[in-house]
Amino acid sequence: MTFEDQVEVTLPTGEKTKIHTGLLINGQFVKSKNGKKFPTVNPANGQVIAEIYEADKADVDDAVQAAKAAYKTWRHVDGAERGKLLSKFADLMDANAKTIAAIETLDQGKLYGISLFHTHASASTLRYYAGLSDKIHGKTMMDTNKFFNYTRHEPYGVTAGIIPWNYPLDMWTMKVGPAIAGGNVIIIKTSEKTPLTGLILGALAKEAGFPDGVIQVLSGFGPTCGQALAEHPEISKIAFTGSGRTGRRILETSAKSNLKKVSLELGGKSPALVFEDADLDLAANVLAGTFYYNNAQTCVASSRIYVQKSVADAFTQKFTAAAQAIKVGSPFAEGVTQGPIVDDLQFNQVLKYIDAGKQEGGKLVLGGNKIAGDGYFIEPTVFSNVPETSKIMTEEIFGPVVCVNTFETEEEVTERANNTTYGLAAGVFTKDLNRAVRVSSNLEAGTIWVNQWLNITPQVPFGGYKESGIGRELGEDALKEWTQIKSVKIAM
Ligand code: ADP
Repeated sequence: MTFEDQVEVTLPTGEKTKIHTGLLINGQFVKSKNGKKFPTVNPANGQVIAEIYEADKADVDDAVQAAKAAYKTWRHVDGAERGKLLSKFADLMDANAKTIAAIETLDQGKLYGISLFHTHASASTLRYYAGLSDKIHGKTMMDTNKFFNYTRHEPYGVTAGIIPWNYPLDMWTMKVGPAIAGGNVIIIKTSEKTPLTGLILGALAKEAGFPDGVIQVLSGFGPTCGQALAEHPEISKIAFTGSGRTGRRILETSAKSNLKKVSLELGGKSPALVFEDADLDLAANVLAGTFYYNNAQTCVASSRIYVQKSVADAFTQKFTAAAQAIKVGSPFAEGVTQGPIVDDLQFNQVLKYIDAGKQEGGKLVLGGNKIAGDGYFIEPTVFSNVPETSKIMTEEIFGPVVCVNTFETEEEVTERANNTTYGLAAGVFTKDLNRAVRVSSNLEAGTIWVNQWLNITPQVPFGGYKESGIGRELGEDALKEWTQIKSVKIAM
């Protein structure tokens, strides 16, 4: 590895760290075949942090060949050994957490404390799958006395993960953890907006001792590198997190190539239902705290809040006060509670939605402006009384713009909450246990939060109803997405 292939980055603490800029293929950081690089930008000031090698179809081919070669040996590695490697990898993440978190904040813009939390949370995901690696087993069945049958849960072999930019560390480990536990080899393509921490994790996987070609990392763009992965006839399974548009495209591409298995975690427009008997302080603080977390660049953001009419004014006041208390600024600065939007494209997209909200008749209660300066900062924004069919009420914004509407009855609000093509998450705020359970049953979403929000843990499956996705991540259920069942039938 030559020094030219690493870039030295100065962290806000003054500490310097080196990051590989190459692609991790077959255990080595290498230049892309075409030699092209692309810049990754610090959204807090618009300045280039580093130039990163850009993978193309030819690099995808190389990675797939290395993966195939690695799988020949890897498929015989015991689950316990895979678990040991994942555990070691998790320990290395924890040990390097401060550097990983600082780079994540530089590249993505989320608060440093939040990046630190997600670094450790991502290590926990790896550790959870380390524990499951040697607990994958099938069943035995006797159909008649003449035949003995058993099932094996076998890996797909060469797999890929395409991940987005909002939670790069979580997305990386939510794909790699179960892929490795299930016995696969995996190629990860990071988002072109946030390539840096994926490269650090690649280096740590190497340090943990994963054999060459088992975990590979490609930086690159969707239509080139991502498309080449989706098209590749020798990749058997692909897991994607990102927009519905791209998810559909990957599914179509799979249908036109080799019918690779596809799991998708897509967007949402998640409704939070606040009933009149709810603890309003809790509801307002939890919803404001979790909605604006990471600038609402969160697929499960509670972007549609429905409040029962009798408490609507009180709730809106408390929610708005909590939102107003948010201090926007450098994600490294003391006292700041919201950083910049990830990049200029997303920034302009969010501002367009705010304009649409103003034009479509919603009442602007708070914010609604960009903040002057070099970075991509937007005020926490609240609209109320928003027309149900308007853009900001129906489309995923991925920015700090929330809609607060009112309702009269449980039946009515359940229907309105479900009146969306999405189904990723939903939530209920109430002190009435019967109502909490009833409404949770009636809401059409993969995750329902009761008197809380955004609590995502490795043990509990996560994924979407309706157009929010296919398959589940996390929990034991994710292993079903990374293994296939073989039935062996023995004549006795
Ligand atoms: P966003 O618009 O939020 O960036 P995308 O769905 O476009 O969401 O991006 C999520 C991930 O999908 C990124 O890694 C991106 O590079 C990748 N991607 C985008 N287009 C394609 C495509 N046509 N094929 C495969 N991957 C893609």
